[in-house]
Order: sequence, then C-alpha cells, then structure tokens
Amino acid sequence: MVDLKAIEAAARRIRGVVVETPLIKAHQVSAMVGTDVYLKCENLQVTGSFKARGASNFVLSLVERLGAANSEASSTFGADAQGLSGASRRLGGIITASSGNHGQAVAYAAKRVGLPCTVAVPEDVIRVKEVAIESFGAQVVRVGRTSSDRIDYAERLAAQQNLVFVPPYDHEDIVAGQGTAGLEVVHSLPEVREVYVPVGGGGLISGVSTAVKSLRPMARVIGVEPELANDTYLSMQEGRIVDIGSNTTIADGLRTSHPGSFTFPIVQKNVDEIALVSEAQITEAMRILFEAKLVVEPSGCTSVAAVLGASEAGHRFDGPVVCVLSGGNVAPEIFASVLQ
Ligand SMILES: *Cc1c(COP(=O)(O)O)cnc(C)c1O
Repeated sequence: MVDLKAIEAAARRIRGVVVETPLIKAHQVSAMVGTDVYLKCENLQVTGSFKARGASNFVLSLVERLGAANSEASSTFGADAQGLSGASRRLGGIITASSGNHGQAVAYAAKRVGLPCTVAVPEDVIRVKEVAIESFGAQVVRVGRTSSDRIDYAERLAAQQNLVFVPPYDHEDIVAGQGTAGLEVVHSLPEVREVYVPVGGGGLISGVSTAVKSLRPMARVIGVEPELANDTYLSMQEGRIVDIGSNTTIADGLRTSHPGSFTFPIVQKNVDEIALVSEAQITEAMRILFEAKLVVEPSGCTSVAAVLGASEAGHRFDGPVVCVLSGGNVAPEIFASVLQ
C-alpha cells in the first residue's frame, strides 16, 4: 500500500523535475453546473501528461536505491555524476513498452537522470508519437502489434542487458508519484469536496485518492471511465478484477482492459464511485475546454464530461469540485475533427 508519507516523499523527490501544474477555475463549466469547478491542468505538465510524475518518481527512487547500495556512490543524488556512474555500472538502463504518454514520460525521466532508455512501440505506431519519445533521447524499437508482444520483448531485453522495466501503473513508486497531483490539489484548494479522476489502469486515481482521503476524509473521489472501457466499473461491482478485452474508445489513455492487481485494492478502499461517460460526452467536454483555451486529449476530458453528466442527472454538488485534466497529447487531426 502507498500512504501519505510515500506521496510526500515522492513530491520532494520529483520537485524541480516535474512542474506544479496550475489549478484554475473553469468559469463556463461552473456556470453550467451551479458550483465552483476547478481544473488540475496536467495537460500542462512536462511531456503533456501526469505520467511524468510517476515515471520520475520511479526512476529517481531506482537511482537512489542503487546509489545507496553502491559504496562508491555519494549519498546525495542530483547533478552528482559520481553517484550516477556508480549506480549505472550495475544498471544498463531502463525500458518500457508504451507508444503513448507513459513512453514519453519514461524517456523524459531517464534523460533527466542520464540513464539510457529503450521504449518498445507497436510496428504501426504513428510517427508523431515516435518523434516525441525520440526527442527525449530514448531509443525507440518497433515490435509486433499487441501489447503482449512488446512486453515480452521488453522483458527479454531487460534480462539480457540488465535493464529495469518501468510499469505504467501497477507499482508503488508510480502510484506515489501520481499521488503528488492530489497533494497539490488539497494544498491549493483545502475546501475541495469532490475530485473527478480519469481511470485507465488505476495508477493516477490510486495516488490521488490516497492523498485526498488522507488529508480530507470527507471529500469524495470519483473515478471516470468511458462506457466503452468500463473495466474498473465492472470490477468494483463484482468485487474482483474483471477483464473486458480490447476496446475502441477515443480516450486512448483509458483503453486498459482491466485494473491493476496493485491498484485495484486501493481503488476499492478509497474511491466512492466510478462514473461512466459516452464518446459524445467526451468530445463535447473537449470542445468546452477548447473554448476555455485548453487543449486536452480525450482521456483528459473525461473528468469534465462526468461532472456535466452528473449535473444533468440531477446530482447536487455540496462544494468546490476538481476535475483532473490528465493530459493534453492529442494528434492535431483528431483535435480538429472533434472541433468540427
Ligand atoms: C495513462 C493516462 C490515464 C490513465 O491513468 P492510469 O494511471 O492508467 O489510470 C488517464 N489520462 C491520460 C491522459 C493518461 O495518459
């Protein structure tokens, strides 16, 4: 389990590596639902999504542990090349398997600490995603078409070359890193009453809900999934991890087929409700956020879609609401087609 202490430690560790994103009031949405709605703008995070938080915490923790285990390394890690060279003698680098936001985040974190990084992506990856990952100096390898092809490859290469695999959500250091967004929300808005969080594998909501419930036990935390990718919703109903197989929601960051085995118990403990949103509600939220001058990817808009949906269904908000805008990486063609 991840506790508040672990999230606070993560916040200290990643300070200066990721940014403290703004929490801004959404005037139009607030007027539409009759309560103050604030947006936690992870679309403005480095690499364009909150995933930089978890990846940076994972990579910095890894280097700290290696540094501590290495007698030659100095006790503080930072710009200290001595510590890193000691650590990296044992470690060949890091590897992950994601063409999306996690791939960029891991490449960014690796670059910040000077570790070699390999990212396995599908053979049919769109070029802009590959370019984004390469821009952080990572080596991109095209492997197969399915995520299991890429994970098999990454695990084999990790064993051969002494690389550490960085998981996208199902790990305590990833969850603690994502939780720092929740800490920032409570610090900026102590009176927060409801927090809406997009849910894929559950890393973001596990961290955010742990921070929010530890500091504000009376605040509600609501997970949001597309109707087309309702694996956590079904898992919560059944009280066990349900796998829904592949799906085609426009919210590509939320297509995960099942919640994680590390994250799901945390979600069960902390999350009050999972709300579902339709594809039309997602694209409508994207248009509304564009009018607020915010470029948000479909996954990142689901929190706002859920608040609008709850209001239409007659939900009464009893205080300030926060929507986590989890990311802003949307291909221009998709953004344009939604706006038209
Ligand atoms: C990864 C991602 C999510 C889902 O996060 P999980 O930790 O997998 O639940 C939501 N939004 C965006 C933009 C993402 O990249």
